[in-house]
Amino acid sequence: MRTLNDFNFENKKALIRVDFNVPLNEEFKVTDDTRIKSAKPTIIKILEDGGSCILMSHLGRPKGVDESFSLKHIVNAVEDVLGVEVKFVSDCTGEEANNAANNLEPGQILLLENLRFHDEETTGDETFAKQLSVLGDIYVNDAFGTAHRAHASTTKVAQFFQDNKCFGYLLEQEIKSIDKVMKTGEKPVCAILGGAKVSSKITIIDNILDKIDHLIIGGGMTFTFIKAQGGNIGNSLVEDDKLKLAREILEKAKMKNVQVHLPVDAVIADAFSNDAHTNTCEINNIPDGWMGLDVGPNTEEIFAQIIKNSKTILWNGPLGVFEMPNFAKGTIALGYAIADATKEGAFSLVGGGDSVAAVKQFGFEDKVSYVSTGGGAMLESLEGKTLPGIAAILN
Ligand code: AMP
Repeated sequence: MRTLNDFNFENKKALIRVDFNVPLNEEFKVTDDTRIKSAKPTIIKILEDGGSCILMSHLGRPKGVDESFSLKHIVNAVEDVLGVEVKFVSDCTGEEANNAANNLEPGQILLLENLRFHDEETTGDETFAKQLSVLGDIYVNDAFGTAHRAHASTTKVAQFFQDNKCFGYLLEQEIKSIDKVMKTGEKPVCAILGGAKVSSKITIIDNILDKIDHLIIGGGMTFTFIKAQGGNIGNSLVEDDKLKLAREILEKAKMKNVQVHLPVDAVIADAFSNDAHTNTCEINNIPDGWMGLDVGPNTEEIFAQIIKNSKTILWNGPLGVFEMPNFAKGTIALGYAIADATKEGAFSLVGGGDSVAAVKQFGFEDKVSYVSTGGGAMLESLEGKTLPGIAAILN
């Protein structure tokens, strides 16, 4: 795996695919600069080597050229994070971009306009990728969030750099974190899968059963498993067409010696609302008219014990409707359990969608080993797919 440290960037122009798809408010000010901060170590290493950086990114999903999606809005925020002046060019290819790149001196940074102002970016057009490629000497991909897309700047452009291409620090860290769970995870390995539906997690479950010792299931998908085993789930979320599949998953796990842990109790509500009446009951005895919206206190304790004994932990998906404070307790308790295990030396990876939001919301970000920056990319990695953006560097 070729990484940043394999290169000396002295007098080289690095063409870096970053993920600066940051949220902007109505005044076009950046409201969360996490993604810019994530790319900082890569950019600083290149500048300190004596190289220059040409940054390319998308922002949102514009249809053609659209000022409101211009990356010019983020120039100040990038300068604030990096502490270096950032030049901006109003197109990512063509004469203006070529001139700006040619004139770039060591130590300088150039930000290109939104790649998606050209449809050729998302169609993965090779001519467009070639036009991008002439801007730099070495191609660096540091955008995990788009690594699952075979776009011009994430994948196609790499072919024009032969050996002069590598992962940035962020992408390297993402790959290593996933490998630490999926390939080299110290046993016992525990995966916690929550979230709404079994159907969206089935490929992940299939892929990870060979790699884990414990599977903790929570969230809305619990109830498809409980119903499949004959339990009463009241009005809880269920996928009736997946009952057979749920039984097959449990059977398969048994064959592979994976211990599956389903909740034993639930916090139930008489409506899908934070203001609903609530109660707790056994997971397989939920009265009609009531729905399970969080795991109960006994479940919290059992799950915490399994996590405490695990050396490698993967967490994807909340245990309850954590967006509503009355049903966030199980997810928060899980966060504490993972934080404690991490403190005791376990490796913990949080990735894919809503568990990342939960970890940030409840302040566990610095208490787990790694929080992935890529939603879809993380999910596809857990499904066992080789991401096109990663394959393009390895090839
Ligand atoms: P996912 O994107 O599949 O990870 O699902 C995340 C969503 O699942 C969150 O918005 C949660 O509110 C929701 N969720 C978690 N537990 C439940 C539950 N018991 N019933 C309904 N939705 C749930």
